[in-house]
Amino acid sequence: MANNMATRIDAVLERIEVAKARAGRPGQELTLVAVGKTRPVEELLAAYDCGLRHFGENRVAEASEKAPRLPADTVLHGIGHIQRNKSKTATEVFSWIHSIDKASTVQALSRRATETGHDRLINVLIEVNTSGEEAKSGVRDHAEIPALAEKITNGGGLALRGLMTMAPFVPDGDAPAVHRSFAMLFDSFERLLPTMPAGFDTLSMGMSNDFEAAIAEGATMLRIGTAIFGPRGTP
Ligand SMILES: *Cc1c(COP(=O)(O)O)cnc(C)c1O
Repeated sequence: MANNMATRIDAVLERIEVAKARAGRPGQELTLVAVGKTRPVEELLAAYDCGLRHFGENRVAEASEKAPRLPADTVLHGIGHIQRNKSKTATEVFSWIHSIDKASTVQALSRRATETGHDRLINVLIEVNTSGEEAKSGVRDHAEIPALAEKITNGGGLALRGLMTMAPFVPDGDAPAVHRSFAMLFDSFERLLPTMPAGFDTLSMGMSNDFEAAIAEGATMLRIGTAIFGPRGTP
């Protein structure tokens, strides 16, 4: 397993380098978040042994089961919807939360992240719906972002770090609709930048099927599951 893991990770890193060069961004720093949802913690540890440090989980309960078994320098990212009753656990296990799209979520997380004993800021990203797909979450209207950003900044306990999106899922990850989604997020980011707090520097976009397009459109953080761990639902 470890060997296959190393081979798959090497292949992903190689594709990232090629995409960066092709995008004219050879020196761009990119954070690779390995999305280990549904995969056993042993596989995350194998990826850790290959040098990966950032891991993404979409369920709080699953993340909190895995967290104690991961080395201390692992950085855990919450990439799925955070239910209100999971806010406390989320602020305990996640260093980053990518899926903020509602004031009520901000409020719940801020409250937990400012409780006594909680001594670090949680990095958060506003999720933007750039595909128009009803099934996808995220803020739909760019105009709503500044108010949400202000809530995050004023609530306490949270550091607003940037934006996140998911492109429409189409078989061709290089399709115009995919590029359009990512370009829309980049455009929102650029427009917000002048009024955002210091540290607003992250564009989380690009998954196994479309990360090369995301790099071309300005991603700084990739969330990659299948290309690292293999298809979900297979051993
Ligand atoms: C599952 C998931 C990913 C990774 O998807 P892959 O196609 O397996 O790379 C990325 N982002 C989010 C929000 C996810 O839920």
